[in-house]
Amino acid sequence: MVKLKSHRDSMKEGKVERGDYKEERERMVALLRGQGIGIEVLEAMKRVKRHLFVPPDLRDQAYGDYPLPIGEGQTISAPHMVALMCEYLELEKGDKVLEVGAGSGYHAAVIAELIGSEGRVYTIERHPYLVDFAIRNLNKAGYENVVVILGDGTLGLPEHAPFDKICVTCAAPAVPPPLLEQLKTGGKMVIPIGRFAQKLYLVKKRNGIEKQNKGGVVFVPLVGRFGFR
Ligand code: SAH
Repeated sequence: MVKLKSHRDSMKEGKVERGDYKEERERMVALLRGQGIGIEVLEAMKRVKRHLFVPPDLRDQAYGDYPLPIGEGQTISAPHMVALMCEYLELEKGDKVLEVGAGSGYHAAVIAELIGSEGRVYTIERHPYLVDFAIRNLNKAGYENVVVILGDGTLGLPEHAPFDKICVTCAAPAVPPPLLEQLKTGGKMVIPIGRFAQKLYLVKKRNGIEKQNKGGVVFVPLVGRFGFR
């Protein structure tokens, strides 16, 4: 008689639950090594199940290092870009973070891993469909310290300001003044700037404002009051 192995037996033997994509996730993270991304960010990327943040028919492509469509003409950013932006922000346990452009909720989940349960991510999205998509994905993946809000992220979230870190995941014409205002002194923001030729900037707010150009990138546009029209 053939004895069928229980799911628990397979787990004990170190085999992965079918459909969990653990090996694919580890391979993705292995390919991110040597690109200036620290171990903490790499470990966080290993924990977040990107396949839960893409449309079901694209799950098999979830661990390729490229953006994927998520609806409304928007995309989930490529894993290396999410990792680099988190690295530049130097996220710490307990940080209060504002993300502009929730999209799939994936980037917010990686941030949530890095700031821990004492921290909180507020993420704003302008498309109602994507607000719902992000909330569903974050619930499925079990993130409780992320709040998804419908609105124009160029205005920030004055009621929850100031923020330790701000992560803008769409390209702006310039740094929206409300975001700079809502960043703590000593805080950091990453933001892509430009319509066609875009550059990623790391903005540090101290006595003055310091802007570092981190190189060319491709993002969907930031659309709103202090974004593109
Ligand atoms: N961080 C997302 C990437 C989403 S792409 C992820 O991990 O999947 C950028 C998102 O910014 C899009 O969903 C787009 O709808 C949104 N967006 C553009 N302008 C915005 C604005 N003014 N306020 C809020 N969201 C905006």
